[in-house]
Amino acid sequence: MSSASLPVRTRFAPSPTGFLHLGGARTALFAWAFARRHEGQFILRIEDTDVERSTPEAIQAILDGMAWLELDYDEGPYHQMQRMDRYREVLAQMLAQGHAYHCYMSVQELDALRAEQVADGEKPRYDGRWRPENLKQGQRPPPGIAPVIRFKNPLSGSVAWDDQVKGRIEIANAELDDLIIARSDETPTYNFCVVVDDLDMKITHVIRGDDHVNNTPRQINMIRALGAEPPVYGHLPTVLGSDGTKLSKRHGAVSVMHYADEGFLPEAMVNFLARLGWAHGDDEIFTREQLVSWFDIAHVNPAPARFDADKLLWVNHEHIKRLTDEALAERLRPFLERAGLEISRGPPLASVAALVRDRVATLAEMRDEVHYFYEPPQNASQIPEKFAKVMTDGVRAALPDLLEEFERIDWTREAIGAAIKSVAARKGLKPPQIMMAVRPLVTGVPQSPPIDAVLALLGRETVRARIKSGLALS
Ligand code: GLU
Repeated sequence: MSSASLPVRTRFAPSPTGFLHLGGARTALFAWAFARRHEGQFILRIEDTDVERSTPEAIQAILDGMAWLELDYDEGPYHQMQRMDRYREVLAQMLAQGHAYHCYMSVQELDALRAEQVADGEKPRYDGRWRPENLKQGQRPPPGIAPVIRFKNPLSGSVAWDDQVKGRIEIANAELDDLIIARSDETPTYNFCVVVDDLDMKITHVIRGDDHVNNTPRQINMIRALGAEPPVYGHLPTVLGSDGTKLSKRHGAVSVMHYADEGFLPEAMVNFLARLGWAHGDDEIFTREQLVSWFDIAHVNPAPARFDADKLLWVNHEHIKRLTDEALAERLRPFLERAGLEISRGPPLASVAALVRDRVATLAEMRDEVHYFYEPPQNASQIPEKFAKVMTDGVRAALPDLLEEFERIDWTREAIGAAIKSVAARKGLKPPQIMMAVRPLVTGVPQSPPIDAVLALLGRETVRARIKSGLALS
């Protein structure tokens, strides 16, 4: 039965050697979306056999990143290090069936062969000298050498697959030498473990980065040697930086959790990641559910995708716009709490969120916009020259009148605006002159949403106290 007609099972198989970056998260998302689209299963497999480079922190970072993006998996996480017995079993099986053999070539011999091949203008490759059929008479395992195990790659013909992203790919077997599948210390190698796992885990569709395209023909040959049919493959294009060069820290080759900390919404990140190489018509903003219902791997563009930080901000802003004030407030709450702000001391968070939501692209920006609702403002006199400029003698003389007005009016945005206007008129000032001084006195920042709205939300007592203490200090 070909895997295309089986219930879909995809996997994400990260090596825990660093954080989960954008490219990795995009791979996870596409494998997940494909499984969900086809009502299949999504499996998480941690490829931790590189013990030198794998760390528990990196595993945790992968789990955190997936949890944040809500990429839920149906099975796993499996850990390859816990499957060593199984790999040994399959190695023994391959040896017994004649699909693999021991090779006793020493490093020196291999180096010498390489040098010879390079000198002859050939591609360096293992020459099959320990393949059972090539053994010369009297060729015996040398003493004291622990052998590696090599896979007996077919010598002729070719291996081909219909890549779901890249189209048909065909490689002549003559291009492939006999791959080492277990090292001399008996540990299985990367490509071999992937093959055993993909078979054991009944993976029907391997969706992974195209840095693995060269491994695929070898993996297919091993799968066939094990008497199985290979899964369907789809190799996703690389994610490049905005300037077309390799994605670096500067472009966003940082942990996806960095974006969580910066106040990007996970649904915005999912939307943004989905657009790295995939499109559904002209749709730019969509929900996770829409992605799942639309996702078609045939619509992944084989050309490299480009990371665009401005676009990410825009997508985030668009998703912020789609939240209700209350929902947005709940997203914002942990940001304020982490900054040590006491929300119970200020106005209702949803009202504050409503006031600033159009002004910001991220929750971190929003936190920086609203902190003065929940903590006393920075001393206005510390806002340099600018403050001195707005705090003219005329304005200073008007503020006591304003304080008086503020004591008796209805505390509504309209009444506050009217009070500012009438005091300005009385004192021969323009209303903005008063507003420009009141703003830093009350908020500690030079820019804010309309000041009448800010004052209305802050509350009469807080506003009067801040103006008074600001006046005393300035
Ligand atoms: N562990 C590999 C990586 O992190 C992925 C292997 C695969 O998807 O087949 O690049």
